Amino acid sequence: NTPLHELDPAVAAALDAELERQQSTLEMIASENFAPVAVMEAQGSVLTNKYAEGYPGRRYYGGCEHVDVAEQIAIDRVKELFGAEYANVQPHSGASANQAALFALARPGDTILGLDLAHGGHLTHGMRLNFSGKQFEVVAYHVDEGSGLVDMAEVERLAKEHRPKVIIAGWSAYPRQLDFAEFRRIADETGAYLWVDMAHFAGLVAAGLHPNPVPYADVVTSTTHKTLGGPRGGIILARGKEFAKKLNSSVFPGFQGGPLEHVIAAKAVSFKIAATEEFRERQRRTVEGARILAERLTAPDAREAGVNVLSGGTDVHLILVDLRESELDGQQAEDRLHEVGITVNRNAVPNDPRPPMVTSGLRIGTPALATRGFTAEDFTEVADVIAQTLKPVHDAVALRARVKALAERHPLYTGLATSG
Ligand code: PLP
Repeated sequence: NTPLHELDPAVAAALDAELERQQSTLEMIASENFAPVAVMEAQGSVLTNKYAEGYPGRRYYGGCEHVDVAEQIAIDRVKELFGAEYANVQPHSGASANQAALFALARPGDTILGLDLAHGGHLTHGMRLNFSGKQFEVVAYHVDEGSGLVDMAEVERLAKEHRPKVIIAGWSAYPRQLDFAEFRRIADETGAYLWVDMAHFAGLVAAGLHPNPVPYADVVTSTTHKTLGGPRGGIILARGKEFAKKLNSSVFPGFQGGPLEHVIAAKAVSFKIAATEEFRERQRRTVEGARILAERLTAPDAREAGVNVLSGGTDVHLILVDLRESELDGQQAEDRLHEVGITVNRNAVPNDPRPPMVTSGLRIGTPALATRGFTAEDFTEVADVIAQTLKPVHDAVALRARVKALAERHPLYTGLATSG
């Protein structure tokens, strides 16, 4: 039982350096968050030792009586949280959940209709190098160039023309809410299943700040580590039990072996947290922070610097910055923000003239900072730092100092270093 820093100083040093990075910089990658210590405690527990192929009460291994309890708690809590009759908490990640869901609803060679990756969709929604793009016939819908909103007329037209087996509603980079009722109507009229991937906005749904897709979709998938703020992992939900058997057998034995029971216990803890008023208050600050960013980055001085906000604003936890009129491309803007201590990711804008490794945009999200305790006042300061940093003339040293002051105002994970 030698402590990590003694047994493996090299790995311990990397962990401590990463802790220091998270503490001293502003994390604004829209898909990231800070898991509570209690969640990490469950994740770092003895449950990592247990094999538990199967499901609670029906395992292929002995000694599962305690992991059964933890997994059943996770299932019951997530069903309650999202009003679902069916839940599977075993997917190792969002991509694993999506793979299992898609193979439960369709067969290789079937047609699927999802949001184009370059317009905000996810790899698992039909990207050519992903399993979804390799094994299914992919038709993609887009956002409207003018409004920046998903073009529902195109969704309907493509659904009628191609008769997809599955319509996918969900996104990785989109600043607005989707119209689930309209997706349902189109799916019903064209004989398609509707799968909603709420990986990004699940925390907002849990807090009642975003429409819940569960009543509309045949299947809903999510990650547990983005706005939901839990351990890294995936879940599958459904409003009814119609697909329960197919979904369960698609996860195990279809794609996975032994479930990660330590992660499942951590998911259970995060679902408990997600049902609290404190969590709802945090999600309200998350959305408010994103609105403050959008307002600041559409102010006249930002416009003058060639900065625009796609769709003109946001309804969720992120904004998409359009740099096509800026002197900076996405890579340069990401690097410049990194220099002052703000971590974001470059992101393609629809019909981006630059290649995917460069891009002409940024995706900036507020979940991690809201978890850290940032208020509207703090987000106003963050937004101004970002706006100033993206200007041709800026004082990087002064901006770095403002970032440092913000980070120090909201301490994170105190006392967590491996060396104590
Ligand atoms: N679905 C959506 C919409 C996502 O944005 C992501 C992650 O970025 C995923 C699925 C995949 O999740 P993971 O990275 O856990 O596989």
